[in-house]
Order: sequence, then C-alpha cells, then structure tokens
Amino acid sequence: MPKTVGVAVSNATFHFDKLYTYAVMPDQQEAVRLGSMVLVPFGRGSRARMGVVLACDEEPEHAKLKYLFDVAPASACLTPELLRLVHFLKERTFCTYYEAVKAVIPYGAQYKPALAADGVTPVLQKQLTRHTENSYKLVGALQQKPKPTAKQLAAVALLSGGERTQNEMEAHGITKAVLDNLCAKGVVECSKVNKSIDLYSSIPLKNEPITLTAQQQAAYDALLPGLEDTAPHSALLYGVTGSGKTLVFLKLIERCLALGRRALVLVPEISLTPQMILRLKSRFGRRVAVQHSALNHTERLLQWQMIQDGGADIVVGTRSAVFAPLENIGLVIIDEEQEHTYRSESAPRYAAQEVARQRAAENGSLLLLASATPSTESFYAARNGRTQLVRLTQRYGGNPLPSVQIVDMRAELASGNPREISLAMEDAIRRNLDAGRQTILLLNRRGYQTMAQCDDCREVLKCPKCSVPMVYHKAGHKLLCHYCGTQLDPPPKTCPACGGKLLYRGFGTQKAEEELAQLFPEARVLRMDQDSTAAKDAHEKLLARFARHEYDIMVGTQMVAKGLDFEDVTLVGVLGIDSLLFAQGFRAYETVFSLITQVVGRSGRAKDPGFAIIQTTDPDNPVLNLAAAQDYDAFFEQEIAYRKLGLYPPFCGLCVVGFSGPKEIEVARAAARFSALLGRQAAQQPDLPLRVLGPTPGNIEKINENYRYKLTIKCRADKRFRDLVRQTLGLYEQEKLPAKATVVVDMHSDGDI
Ligand code: ADP
Ligand code: ZN
Repeated sequence: MPKTVGVAVSNATFHFDKLYTYAVMPDQQEAVRLGSMVLVPFGRGSRARMGVVLACDEEPEHAKLKYLFDVAPASACLTPELLRLVHFLKERTFCTYYEAVKAVIPYGAQYKPALAADGVTPVLQKQLTRHTENSYKLVGALQQKPKPTAKQLAAVALLSGGERTQNEMEAHGITKAVLDNLCAKGVVECSKVNKSIDLYSSIPLKNEPITLTAQQQAAYDALLPGLEDTAPHSALLYGVTGSGKTLVFLKLIERCLALGRRALVLVPEISLTPQMILRLKSRFGRRVAVQHSALNHTERLLQWQMIQDGGADIVVGTRSAVFAPLENIGLVIIDEEQEHTYRSESAPRYAAQEVARQRAAENGSLLLLASATPSTESFYAARNGRTQLVRLTQRYGGNPLPSVQIVDMRAELASGNPREISLAMEDAIRRNLDAGRQTILLLNRRGYQTMAQCDDCREVLKCPKCSVPMVYHKAGHKLLCHYCGTQLDPPPKTCPACGGKLLYRGFGTQKAEEELAQLFPEARVLRMDQDSTAAKDAHEKLLARFARHEYDIMVGTQMVAKGLDFEDVTLVGVLGIDSLLFAQGFRAYETVFSLITQVVGRSGRAKDPGFAIIQTTDPDNPVLNLAAAQDYDAFFEQEIAYRKLGLYPPFCGLCVVGFSGPKEIEVARAAARFSALLGRQAAQQPDLPLRVLGPTPGNIEKINENYRYKLTIKCRADKRFRDLVRQTLGLYEQEKLPAKATVVVDMHSDGDI
C-alpha cells in the first residue's frame, strides 16, 4: 500500500513531462496501485488534473507533498502490459507520458474530472454509466398446482439450459410479466448483469468448414509452427489480390483459439472493417470485439470493457486497436500492412507494426503481416530472412489477374474528346452495364472542380489560411479548403489578385458522378468519398447496397480501392491518379504501385475474368506500367535499388522534425536553432551516423495560418539516436523556442510533410 506515488499528469509539455510525487491519504492506499487513474492538484493554483500512477513509493522531492484528490477503482487500472506500452511509446515516439496513456485507453480514460455534490471537492467521475440488463436463473421447482401456463413451462424449460437475459427470453416469446410472476413464486431469480452490447448481432453464424486450396493449405502449414510455438515469430504473407489471404487468417485464428489463445486483427481503414467483422462474426460469433473510430463513445467504451473483462477472444479494428487490452495473444494479423493509415500522424506518432511487434514479443505470438503489395521494408526483411516469407501466387478459383490497358489522356484531348472519361473507358463501362456487371472507378480527388484559376494572371485561388488550392463543391455551391475547412460562399467570380475572370477547372468525384450520369442515364451511380460517407455507418450501408447490386457503378476516392470483395465487379477504371505520381516523399512510387494494384485487384474476383483501364497523362511512366502488369517482384527490384542509391529506408532510419508557428521568420529561426543544437550534441558522439537535411519549408508551406518548416534526418533508428533527439528537444524547450514554433518528431514519416 503505497504512501507516495509518481504520477504522469495530463497536459504536460515535453520538457516538464516527468513523474510528479504525491502523497496518498490512508483511506486511498487500498485502491492505489501502478496504473491507477488519479485526479491530482497541479501547479500553483492546485487545479485538478487527470493523471496515471506510474511509480509507487517515490522518494518525496519536497518535504510538503500534496495529496491526491481522488483515485479510480482498481477495475479502471491499466494492465501491466499496457503500462509497459506507455513507457514503450514514450521511449520510441517522443510523446509525453499522458499522450501515451491517451493512445492506450480510448478517450483518455474511463474517468473524467468533476466536482462532488458539495460543488467544491474535485472528484473522478465515471464516463460510462454501466448498462445493465436483467438475467434469470432457475432456483426452484414449478408447482403443479395451480396448473402452470404454457408460457411458464416454456420459460422453465429454457432456463433449465442455463441462465438467460431478459432479451433472450423475449426473443423466445416470454414476456417480463411471466418472468416476474415466476420470480414471485420463487422458481426463478433475477439479477442485474452488465450488458455487453453485441454490435453486430444481426450477422448470422455460418459454421461450414473451410476447405483451403492446396496453395492456401501450404501457406497455412508453413505458418502453423510459428503460431503453435510460444516464442515470438514474425511472417509476411505475400499473396496476390483475390488469393484468399482472409481464408488463411480464419484458419489460423481457429487454431489460435483452439490453443486457448487470443487473436488481434488490424485492418487499415474503417471502410474495410465491416467486411472483416462480417467474416469474423459469422465464423466466431459473439466473442469478437470491435475497436475503431466510427463507433460512438459508449459503444467503443463498452467494447473496450468487454475486452478488458476477458469477454473477447478476437479483437478486430483499425490502428488504435493495437492497444486493445487483450491478454494471452497468440496471433496478431496486420492486413494490407503497407498502408500509411497504420502510422499515426498525431502524438504519439507510432506505427501499428512496431507496437504489434512489441506485443508479439511480450505475448510470444505470431505476428503476421499480409499484403498483395508489401511495403518495401517488409519485403526486404522477408527476403533477407529476418521474417518468414509465405507466398500465395494464384487467385482463388483459378481466375487470372485482370488484364490492364493504359489510356493516354493527352491523345484523348488531341482527338477532340473534352471529357475526363476516355472513349475506351466509356465503351468498356457500357459493355459492362449491358452485361449486367458492376464497375468500380477510382479518382483520388473529392469535390466537383479542383481548382479556380485566373484567366489573366494564371494564379490559382488558394485558401487564405493555407498554401493549397481551394476546391469547388457543387452540392453546397461553395469553395472549400480540404486542409482547414475554410469556405468561400458564394464562390468568387473574379481573381482576388488582379480582378481577372476566374475559370473553374479540374475533375473531382462530384463531377465524375455528373459526367457518368450524362453518359449513362440508365446506370445507378454510387459516389464514395469523405463527403458522401460522413454520416455514421454510411460506409457500411452504401457498401452493403453496392453488394446487393443496387448500384451499377461505384466512383470514389482511395476508399474504393482496397480490400473490397464483390463478385459482380469485372471492370475497374482509374480515372486519375497522376497527382500521386508526382507527389514527393520517398514512398510515392510504392504508394502509387500499391494503390493501382489494389484497385485493379477488385476486378474479376469470382466467376468471370476482370478487366481494368488506367487513364494517365504519363503513359510511359515505369511505375504505372509495372502496376498495370501487376509485377510486384519487378517493382520491388526497381524500388529497392532506388532506396539504396538515395539512402532511404530500409537502408537508414528517417526522422522528420516539423516546426510550425504563426510567424514565418521565427519558425525558420527556431528550426535552424534546433538543427544547431542537434549538431552540437552530435559532435560529442562522432561515431554516430547522421545526415541532416534542411531546414526547408514544408511541402505545404502554410496550414491554418501556421507556417511550416522541417528538418529531415537520415540516421540509424536506435536508442542512441533517440537519446540524442531527446536531449535536443530538452534544450529546445529550455530556450523557450516552442513559443515561437511547436516542434514534432516523426520517426515514421515518408518525408512528405
Ligand atoms: P485476398 O484477401 O487475398 O484478396 P480474399 O480472402 O478476399 O482474397 O478471397 C477472395 C475471394 O475468394 C473471396 O470471396 C473468398 O471467399 C474466396 N475464397 C478464397 N479462398 C477460398 C476457399 N478456400 N474456399 C472458398 N472461397 C474462397
Ligand atoms: Zn485552408
């Protein structure tokens, strides 16, 4: 029972992020332990702040310690593994303790600060009032006189099989009145149990056995020893699109559960979770918990609670699900492991893979990365034997990969077609429509027209707060900034710089939708982008409708490209991705290759072979051509050579330090000062390999009135380097530079900030 504790306090800055020592009142000592959520008085005004106990019986730093305000019950404690993850995140990502805590438990905590009934005493208040329901249990025999009713007999018969909830009884036609009556007779006893909401209870259980193909079976057999062993292992399942990677997952999960262990499944984005949930729930039923950001607050906390209480064998979710409080993990699957959505872009800036690897090491699990287009780093590791490599080279059902045609859009314009949909594309869509098949079209720009340009001075109209073009949205008849949300309503007709006439041009998803409606008035077109899927569950519902063939054509941004499995889709069109081809950042080629391979892979997955068309103004581009040929191996050879030559990961670590603030000159100076401080520290360790580039302005120079600069550091991503950065951050804060430019350090950036 600790008398003093070391607490990580919320809202600390990096420099002041240490453990603060507090005294524990005798009546709190029973409840306090490592991982306890606490409320503490902080600073001169002793304002209440949230905190987490990370050390016990600390040596007091002053004679007069403050006392804790309040302690949450032990059930809200962070588990020992999650506590270790907090330290892991702090060490690896340069976040504060509390930022790590917030990442590890949803919404920061299950408790929030409040005032007691007296209106002055700060206390912790539970965020989630427990949802309970009635549960019934047989405790006595039913008398034969007076003659029991049919419903009473039915109720007793049901309960003789075990305890059941009111909901379950009602589903069998037995009302609460009947149960109340049986309780009064002493035959049945009612108790309150925690409601575990079964989010996807409408999904029917299908338990037909899985028969793997010979190749899938071979992959499964190769992975099995790593799963059955209690030491940690890692593997890369590299399987072409439609090869049935998910079936291999299901079999492995089945085996994992049979071994008495649990499984964690990560998918790259929310749009893919419904499909994975469906497959897992229909196979494994209720003991599947879900963690992703589209759940509302209560749903998410309830699911979290279910996992923490040991009620889940499988957890499926997006990036943050990697922190699920699941114990005894035997298998961690990261599907589409190359996706950037696995890297967090706000503090803590972690990659799900590194956290998963850490958890796999602690639990002795098999970490399985899977993809049709693995990240260059992962494939390199596999090829060099640091990770097991398992391949699936054939599509299920023996279909060939889709054949792909590249259409030159410059020639299209020259031949007099003013549309953004080429004649070849139009023709293919029409044939597909006539055959009663479905089409998926990809366009990575949302909105209607993507820029407004002055006819006289050629200036592109930019957001007043950001250095990016504004996008015209036809639905609301306004210009919108996709970075800060600024609107110009109504859209201006003349150039703000010279008064010349503004021309609206460019091609976004809304315009594509309109062009399709003109070309194919009879077709039912579904648009999928951030705007059309903003409502809760919109993704899921729209995809379900597309699956039921209530639409003929789906046009959308990247969210239509990945993972979807619809058997009637036999045509995929890429309307435009050229802006990605010319993007900066060392992963740009990999991203384009992966995106095209993925979207093309949506075509021809079931009975009929698929076809795909890619429109571009750069038809000879080597990356496009390799993607069209779906030749990952050739792409990898080219990419790894480029990475080696340019010194990029996996041949070095890349650390990007970003600076931002309202005064450009101060931001630039702060960045230069950081660079100088880093150089000074590094000079003390001349053997440390280090190459510092910059500072340079960010790729987007201004976002929301804040100017941006960056330093790019090529390094060896190890503890020594991290210590160096940490010292430099400390010096930067000591010189009070964060007031001029906030600083962030990202070890997972692709340099494109
Ligand atoms: P991937 O994730 O590799 O792109 P999926 O796992 O989505 O591929 O499989 C593609 C399609 O083939 C799915 O509809 C899946 O149900 C089907 N499929 C793959 N393998 C089998 C199998 N062994 N038995 C039945 N259906 C399979
Ligand atoms: Zn803006």
